[in-house]
Amino acid sequence: MSNDDCIFCQIVDGDIPSRTVFEDDTAKAFLDANPLSPGHTLVIPKEHHETLEDTPEDVAAHVFGALHRLNTAVQHAVDADGANVAFNDGEAAGQEVPHVHGHIIPRFEDDGGRPIHAIVGERPDLSDAKLDEIAEKIHNQRD
Ligand code: 5GP
Ligand code: ZN
Repeated sequence: MSNDDCIFCQIVDGDIPSRTVFEDDTAKAFLDANPLSPGHTLVIPKEHHETLEDTPEDVAAHVFGALHRLNTAVQHAVDADGANVAFNDGEAAGQEVPHVHGHIIPRFEDDGGRPIHAIVGERPDLSDAKLDEIAEKIHNQRD
């Protein structure tokens, strides 16, 4: 399942070069072309799936396993003090390449960066009743 218009499918197919750091039958990882820090790595399924919701659970689990191992490898390789590991899942969340991918962004003491909590603007003021309602709705959505 490859999408001709997709940059990451073209990377998987070898039509666009990448600095590959890991590859197996299901997943691939390569350095981000515009790194936010040294070692910034992207981990993707080889099959084209746009979002996490679109990605079959077994593929997502495999990609997460690779992400987990690579998070350690990347941090050791660049001597990082930590990392932000995240998916921009959907256009509203800032996803620009519509082929699901996890970011490993190494972090360093005093690098001037901010935590994942900085990604939204003003925080909502939610009542206990509203929080209970949201939790209940999420619970009821599960398979
Ligand atoms: P998004 O905003 O979709 O979560 O992130 C897409 C990421 O892909 C960006 O960090 C961007 O720098 C990276 N990127 C876009 N095009 C290419 C490419 O052709 N090669 C590589 N290695 N990274 C890319
Ligand atoms: Zn793709």
